Amino acid sequence: MHERVDIVEVSARDGLQSDPTILSTASKVELITRAARAGLRRIEAVSFVNPKRVPQMADAVEVMEALLADDATRSLGPSYIGLVLNQRGLDRAITASVDEINAVAMATDSFARSNQGMGAAQLLDEVAEIVAGARTAGIPVSVTVSAAFGCPFEGEVPVDRVAEVVARLAETGPDEIALADSIGAAVPKDVVERVGAARDVLDGADIRLRCHFHNTRNTGLANAIAAVEAGVGVLDASLGGIGGCPFAPNATGNIPTEDLLYLLARSGIDTGVDLAAACDVARWLELELGHPVPGYLSKAGVFPA
Ligand code: ZN
Repeated sequence: MHERVDIVEVSARDGLQSDPTILSTASKVELITRAARAGLRRIEAVSFVNPKRVPQMADAVEVMEALLADDATRSLGPSYIGLVLNQRGLDRAITASVDEINAVAMATDSFARSNQGMGAAQLLDEVAEIVAGARTAGIPVSVTVSAAFGCPFEGEVPVDRVAEVVARLAETGPDEIALADSIGAAVPKDVVERVGAARDVLDGADIRLRCHFHNTRNTGLANAIAAVEAGVGVLDASLGGIGGCPFAPNATGNIPTEDLLYLLARSGIDTGVDLAAACDVARWLELELGHPVPGYLSKAGVFPA
């Protein structure tokens, strides 16, 4: 088990992408800047996807320009991550000077076809090219395995299937592989099984393992702590717990960063993030979005005060 866990802050991308409120470019930049100042060092800032499909992310280039022009925040050393789904997205991300690339693979054919219009195996070939392209450009690259704990179309996803995908991805040589519970179906037992299977596959490889949980069924934080206990050193989370699940329209979003920070801090696990500052950002975000956010800590306050 790691004594230190790194957080990848995903509110500006995964969170906002599913939020009913569309923030201005300036507000997105402020969210990311506030997150960086609170001590969050890896921030999924933008995605380079088709703006017709995802209008919330249409200003990715402008967001990156503003972030890179802010020398004071830049000097804190945040790493701004750009999500890409194909070669064209990779080219745009490189041009926009992101610090890291995150590509996306899918554990099932149905999910891959629905999201990317191709089967899971073909998508893995495409991801291999993205990883190679990022490497050539000298940019760290991670790959998220979506639907690794359940599929909105196929239901249960066998552990062996996830292990196969991780094995195939490991051959392509990313810096990190993330197992994502895209629909918030997992419970800790699933996490222990799947993280264990992935770790067995990655044994000896220089590839970090990360987990991405949604709190769709209120199991997100339990899954997060199970992942840490199973040896995962990097977790995705979203300030305020914003986000959603496209397959469950009324569902809550990613696990709340500030709630996760509290859980980890009280468990003696260091994250390097200022808990009170993260709560302040969650409260600011709630006002900015104009609706309540799901996270608890920004309402209850930190204990002890
Ligand atoms: Zn997600």
